[in-house]
Amino acid sequence: MLALVVLTGLTCARRRSHEDLEPVHVLLPATGSTSPCAADDEIRPTLACAALVPIATEMGIEPDGAVLHRRYRLPTSLGEGRFVIEPRIRFASRAAWRMLPPSVTRLSPGQDIEVSLPLPPDAPAGPVDVNVRTRPIPAAVQTTETAPLAIGRGAILRVGIAMDQVGGDSDASPAEFRLLARSPAGERELIRAILDPADPGAHKWHDYRLDLDALAGASARFVFSTHVVPRPGQAEPFSFPLWGAPEILEPRPRGDERNLVLVSVDTLRADHVGAYGCELPTTPVLDRLAREGVLFEQAVSAYPSTPASHMTMMTGVYPAVHGVVGPLDALPNGIPTLAELLAAHGYQTAAVTEDAMLVAAAGFQRGIRYYRENKGTSIWDASGQVDVTFAAGLRWLEQHRREKFFLFLHTYQVHEPYSPPPAFNLFTTYQENGTEHPITQQTPLAIRARHAYAGEVRYVDSEIGRLLEGIAALGEADRTLVVITSDHGEEFYEHGWKAHDESLYDEVLRVPLIMWGPGLVPAGVRVPLQVSLVDLAPTLLDLLDLPVPSTMQGISLVPLLENPTAPTFANHVAFSELDKKKQPYLLGARAGGLKWIFPEVPGRQPEVYDLRTDPGEHRNIATAELLARGEALIAQYRSTSTAARDRLAGKAGPVPSPPVLDERTMEKLRALGYIQ
Ligand SMILES: [Zn+2]
Repeated sequence: MLALVVLTGLTCARRRSHEDLEPVHVLLPATGSTSPCAADDEIRPTLACAALVPIATEMGIEPDGAVLHRRYRLPTSLGEGRFVIEPRIRFASRAAWRMLPPSVTRLSPGQDIEVSLPLPPDAPAGPVDVNVRTRPIPAAVQTTETAPLAIGRGAILRVGIAMDQVGGDSDASPAEFRLLARSPAGERELIRAILDPADPGAHKWHDYRLDLDALAGASARFVFSTHVVPRPGQAEPFSFPLWGAPEILEPRPRGDERNLVLVSVDTLRADHVGAYGCELPTTPVLDRLAREGVLFEQAVSAYPSTPASHMTMMTGVYPAVHGVVGPLDALPNGIPTLAELLAAHGYQTAAVTEDAMLVAAAGFQRGIRYYRENKGTSIWDASGQVDVTFAAGLRWLEQHRREKFFLFLHTYQVHEPYSPPPAFNLFTTYQENGTEHPITQQTPLAIRARHAYAGEVRYVDSEIGRLLEGIAALGEADRTLVVITSDHGEEFYEHGWKAHDESLYDEVLRVPLIMWGPGLVPAGVRVPLQVSLVDLAPTLLDLLDLPVPSTMQGISLVPLLENPTAPTFANHVAFSELDKKKQPYLLGARAGGLKWIFPEVPGRQPEVYDLRTDPGEHRNIATAELLARGEALIAQYRSTSTAARDRLAGKAGPVPSPPVLDERTMEKLRALGYIQ
């Protein structure tokens, strides 16, 4: 008997208040066609996401007519079948790519393809750049059926549907999505919906939350299917439908397990936070969190730029081991991420990041089911959008309240350009020789930049306040651990540079690290001992009562919460490195109040500073004895890192190939100077 029950739209399941929903079945095949795919800048693990494959990028081609004819070889990694070929063109190296009409073709591996590129009528004279990509066209009918699953009381099925943006909006066809549940009692239709890629709304996730109570106690298979709905007269219809993050959740007793919100305020140096001694009132909210929670006075970044430092935060291993120092590097498979470890313990995981540097495919998305890249309005503009980013995080929390969650938020708001909203451009004067001066265009750049930056910090602080209010309004404040930190600081010409990614001085290495959760961590604790961001992931796992993998190089800092001067941490060493490729590689160590910086270049001298008497690092006190101590520490870093890499190589094989980036991300990375 066929029983049709249409349950499309949002429905709320009944459940008892002392229980929370926990994922019990992730409805993705263990291997095969699963891969992350994006809709509306939110990447989710999907059923049958067709990979985007670059074919060629050619620079400076001189057109000899109104149509460019190019010949390319299809990568042999692609099988035989139909492909959408997507050519794009641009008229200057920093201009945006312009999409040309896509075409559909049938090809065999290794076969050459002819691409004709009609130049737009408004094309300027001169050479052009050409970029061609392809995507294999999936079968017109796609079906995935799960194994039989035991459905419990109060179960919910959650899934999103969307049309993949790639594929050429003008030519792609609509698709019908159907989700069926097959049980001994018969067949139920849970979703039937058509999305048309010509509708811009089709490229956003359409989320379903389906009540499975009618199946409680039964064993059911779930059948996800899509079929192409050809447009009238269309000879070669194709479509790229997506099922995003399908899962079944059931109510489970929650106990005292905590949620985790980790906020990384990119480029926030510690001494621009009030609780760390900033003379300007930049951070009333963070100062309150520090009073009510735990503040680490000397938290040290492992690398003064975005990808490497964040990957250390997320993995508990140093950059020399994870290897993700630039956006084209990929995390080795054998290194688990914090999100993967939390997801394995029933956490719902989400991230909202800003723009290109936390490349999802580099490993940042691993373990995160909802990875939103809040892309700026212009790829050439690195200014942050903290309000939009945090609001997106809160929206996700609203949809996942009463679940055990990990939310990672990352904002570039205080990163250059320093342009606070007018209401937060508060620091318009400066003190010199006991006199207050207005800041004008004639004021030295270091002072101007620092004060505008301070305004940005005040703005982010205010948004953190709103975020906390939002968490409280959702009723989650009393069981959510909130951690605020940054990946690195910022230089204002203290050692001749501005910004970061140039040196290993403390202005770029010292970051805030504040943990807050009334009843979850002690109040008013200031830890004077030095810690590293490599310790963050093991500490968070320990605070959540989860095991810390032995592969992590960092250690749990939880004992310091009880005893902030615990003797076992007195000699804790923090290592930092900087690999600029074209500049000397720097390796730093900080221990016992001393700091060593070793440049790996002939003729450049190593540096040693006594941070207790010279926190600004101006007097190099290198002696043979001090250098020998530092070299011993560096030798320790190298040997433990090499051993960790060797273990990984034996366990997980070679490092994965570089991530394939979408063109907008590539544009951003070109703008930032990371790639040519
Ligand atoms: Zn950064």
